[in-house]
Amino acid sequence: MFPKLFQKLIDHFTALPSVGPRMAERLVLYLFKQDKKKIQQFAKDLYEFGSNLNYCERCFHVAEEGLCEICADKKRDHSTICVVEDPLDVIAVEKTRNYRGVYHVLGGNLSVMNEDEIRKLKINELLTRVKTEKIKEIILATNPTTDGETTALYLARIIKPLKIKVTRIARGLPTGGDIEYADEVTLGSSIDGRREI
Ligand SMILES: [Zn+2]
Repeated sequence: MFPKLFQKLIDHFTALPSVGPRMAERLVLYLFKQDKKKIQQFAKDLYEFGSNLNYCERCFHVAEEGLCEICADKKRDHSTICVVEDPLDVIAVEKTRNYRGVYHVLGGNLSVMNEDEIRKLKINELLTRVKTEKIKEIILATNPTTDGETTALYLARIIKPLKIKVTRIARGLPTGGDIEYADEVTLGSSIDGRREI
């Protein structure tokens, strides 16, 4: 129905979460109507995104170099690690401006539904950091969902024997929600009100 190149792009958009075939067609038509220079710049940025962005080799946040900007920042408190599920949670905590430590991005949670995902979680990497860096506190900021809570309890159980202070962000965030969607004030006070577990 569409020229091949048009259809190819529709297929790419349809593969994105929350984009149905109709929406994909509309987006591709929108792009087609744009100035050629603008589309080429978009393609160039997408290419660089695919080529040059990586996971930070220390905390697994998004990084352009070996280390992300947060890990590379000497002014941050490198003795406190805030453990989160994904990079958008790092952004959410950063927006509160309450936190000056560093992060560790697990890449998901201990979801019983998905064993493949569990194997990919950066839990061993976290343990290595706890053992080799001078860490004073681990803040568990996984989501206040059932899977997030399970993950926090599991991590507390394996880290506490290493004689490191382990805290959990305070309740008060909407249960079942995602810290990525929490408002900055609520998330900020949840970090301030963290308790040892
Ligand atoms: Zn990093």
